[in-house]
Amino acid sequence: MKAIEITGLSFTYKGSEKKAFTGIDLDVEEGSITAVVGKSGCGKSTLLRCIAGLCPRVYQGEMVGTISIFGEKISSISHVSLSTIVGIVFQNPATQLFSPTIEDELAFGPENLCIPREEIGNRMNDVLRIIGLEKHRNLNPANLSGGQQQLVAIGSVLTMRPRILLCDEILSWLDLEGRKAVRDLLIELKKHGTTILLADHRDEKIDIADKIVRL
Ligand code: ADP
Ligand code: MG
Repeated sequence: MKAIEITGLSFTYKGSEKKAFTGIDLDVEEGSITAVVGKSGCGKSTLLRCIAGLCPRVYQGEMVGTISIFGEKISSISHVSLSTIVGIVFQNPATQLFSPTIEDELAFGPENLCIPREEIGNRMNDVLRIIGLEKHRNLNPANLSGGQQQLVAIGSVLTMRPRILLCDEILSWLDLEGRKAVRDLLIELKKHGTTILLADHRDEKIDIADKIVRL
């Protein structure tokens, strides 16, 4: 099954003369890792924002073409259900973390969806295990290493149980150890059937990708 199907997509930010990208076609198989590569400014972040529904809902502009998520046109999926299907993680983990403890950070998304307490607890335990931070659950994310912070940022999206995870240059700010931990996590998530789309401006770190798409 296709997790993401994009045809003839282009996006122009409001007030901008030129398109962020034009005529993108892309198929992403469910349960695969796809890397979107290309130099800075070629539109990788914009593409991920379109798939996550942030363009044009949050970032205003004109989108042409179609995006389907598991066979359903994105325009017909509500904002809330899209946010439970597609999760997005950004380059700098520090900008995404704001809670006093890792537990609070992981609970934030599902709490907003009014998911029952017990279910949130179960999800939190699953995610803490998969990101390997069970022992640190009560620590403040600000006191973690960059790599651990990125694991928490990914974890805070995983408690929403997204079927698709979009990662925008999430390895860029990490040291070798941090990168390895995040890579291992992505491989583990793929084993669980999560579809992953990674944007990166370098090719070298994407040996885990099943498919590489150049923008
Ligand atoms: P990449 O992630 O590959 O570096 P971006 O998607 O950030 O590329 O940018 C693609 C194009 O869109 C660039 O020309 C950039 O200047 C423009 N752009 C990106 N974000 C915005 C924004 N919020 N408002 C206006 N233009 C933007
Ligand atoms: Mg970018």
